[in-house]
Amino acid sequence: MRLKVMALAILLPLAACKQQPSSELPGAVNAERILAANPDEWLSYGRTYDEQRHSPLDQINKETVKDLGLAWFADLDTARGQEATPLAIDGKIYITTAWSKAKAYDALTGKLEWEYDPKVPGERGVAACCDVVNRGMAAWGDKLFMGTLDGRLVALDRKTGKEVWSVVTLDQSKPYTITGAPRVINGMVLIGNGGAEMGVRGFLTAYDADSGKQLWRFYSVPDEPGKNTDEHLIKAESTWKGEWWKLGGGGTMWDAMAYDPELDLLYVGVGNGSPWNQHFRSQGEGDNLYLSSIVALRPKTGEYVWHFQTTPGETWDYTATQHIMLADLTIGGAKRKVLMQAPKNGFFFVLDRTDGKLISANNYVPVNWATGFDLKTGRPIENPDARYYRTGKLWLGSPGPIGAHNWHPMAFDPKEGLVYIPAINSAFPFIHKPDWKPNKHGFNVGLDLASGAMPADAKTRADAIAATTGELIAWDPVAQKARWTIKYPASWNGGLLATAGGLLFQGNAGGEFAAMDSATGKKLWSFQAQTGVVAPASTFRVKGEQYVAVLAGWGGAWPLAGGLVAEPVGPVRNHSRLLVFKLGGTAKLPDPGPHNVPPLDPPTLTGTPEQVADGARNFGQFCGVCHGDAAIGTGVTRDLRRAGSLGDAKMWNQIVIGGALAQNGMISWKEELNDQQAENLRQYVIKRAHEDKALGMK
Ligand code: CA
Repeated sequence: MRLKVMALAILLPLAACKQQPSSELPGAVNAERILAANPDEWLSYGRTYDEQRHSPLDQINKETVKDLGLAWFADLDTARGQEATPLAIDGKIYITTAWSKAKAYDALTGKLEWEYDPKVPGERGVAACCDVVNRGMAAWGDKLFMGTLDGRLVALDRKTGKEVWSVVTLDQSKPYTITGAPRVINGMVLIGNGGAEMGVRGFLTAYDADSGKQLWRFYSVPDEPGKNTDEHLIKAESTWKGEWWKLGGGGTMWDAMAYDPELDLLYVGVGNGSPWNQHFRSQGEGDNLYLSSIVALRPKTGEYVWHFQTTPGETWDYTATQHIMLADLTIGGAKRKVLMQAPKNGFFFVLDRTDGKLISANNYVPVNWATGFDLKTGRPIENPDARYYRTGKLWLGSPGPIGAHNWHPMAFDPKEGLVYIPAINSAFPFIHKPDWKPNKHGFNVGLDLASGAMPADAKTRADAIAATTGELIAWDPVAQKARWTIKYPASWNGGLLATAGGLLFQGNAGGEFAAMDSATGKKLWSFQAQTGVVAPASTFRVKGEQYVAVLAGWGGAWPLAGGLVAEPVGPVRNHSRLLVFKLGGTAKLPDPGPHNVPPLDPPTLTGTPEQVADGARNFGQFCGVCHGDAAIGTGVTRDLRRAGSLGDAKMWNQIVIGGALAQNGMISWKEELNDQQAENLRQYVIKRAHEDKALGMK
């Protein structure tokens, strides 16, 4: 099989694959079909193994896009973040949604063919740092594969949606989650996991697509010395200090993968350290391999081939799990096989993907943790003030932990030679917490998360909002500079799709799904989706007509945790839907009616200043990551300042301590908080609501 694949790869270089067969290719998905990348279909997460998210289809183009309209839509049964890329195979669309559900539709009519619910226990929601999202499926043979939030890898029959096999890929007693899309290489399904905010050790596992049998497992960080048998882990031991294995170490591989069939190399992005603060993880010393690295593996065995570390001694949640994209670029007159990534740390990396050597790096947004990269050593030139655990001082880091770029896929336009980055400008107060101890539930990052909360001060707020923006950057990876940019008031801007029609599709927090001219960024078309759109679109062709499909629905880490700066315009309505467009489409979304947000009408504050201060500390530690910094919710989970339970101490206690809403992901916190502390949280939120009302919030 592999020889055949390699031969095909030589005959059909992925970038040059422009043929557009008119007939559909019903039947099994195999290596030939994935490599042929028929533009009529969207067979894998990033469309092709190089993950360029560029479609050769051009029926919808700069001239015709004005006639693009909604062909049909389907309402979803979950109102949390929707991040999946729709697959399009044999005239059907396959999506995953929040809470790891899957659905199949007829691409022409929108008829629901089947749906699948793995029944993830609601309590698992608390282990998810960044919403109960799922980014999609992989296809092989007559099956589809998806991860579930509670760590299962499931194979579904593509025709019926029935479960064929299911394996638990991780230790479910630990706060692991799966949100990323699996990939398939030659009958092997690859899946990682998340959880490095909570305290876990990352790995990637390969399973046999037919049987679900485990084939190999690659750990990204070493276990306790003496327990490591893999050579790459034994080598990594000396880059760690202390007893990192007790806290997990981190390095979860929760999103990015790409594959080069000619080199037969699988590229995977590795996440941040666990805990974030390197002082607690590794006595503040060492590179801590292979955190925040891009690793190249031999897919057949999972054997380590090379790595490039984007952030040595990671201590700011600077993951390198962001989109990995492969392309062949002419650099300095020579054709180079490159790998490109815009990780959280704000630098755009161009690597030689044959050996992992750094070709170039430049910051794509303003950053202050490093002034640049030394191309000889491949290491950053760090600002010593950024290591907050050494200085003991607050470090206002740019980017913050949300990154200069998060999971939102980029796209490539080979004609323009541009990589489009959905980027974020944000800062975050990193505050060392000398007396930090890990908790059983919630974030375990080794920082004081409470003291940096947004103050109730109009000027500070206005400055923070102004400094926190989103940006669509058209980046020239050869020149390492932006050709054009579009600024957004909200930071969380959507994933991307580029097409040979000269178009770039993107959604945003304002509920807009738009098409831009990929050469200039000029907006040529837009659709009001009535909700925030963060997922990337895919495109395909059925019976001669090109379609664009995208999931609408608001959520993810930043809308959950970012508070005021995540959504400066106020709560975004969340109405999750699959939207499918074609030229001449005439479907209309129903009138959504007014966006009713409960008023800011808090009860009288009865708590003492000491109670409020205690509530503020625990809110920062346990609550803010899902209910918003300083209790300013943006509409994904309950905005507690507006919650009915705020005026009902008994109901509040039943939720916070009694676990009355555990099935929604709001677990009981009785292992961390007593009744008085829960009441103090309520008093803190009452105080916050009064402060915001006084500042003019409604
Ligand atoms: Ca992280």
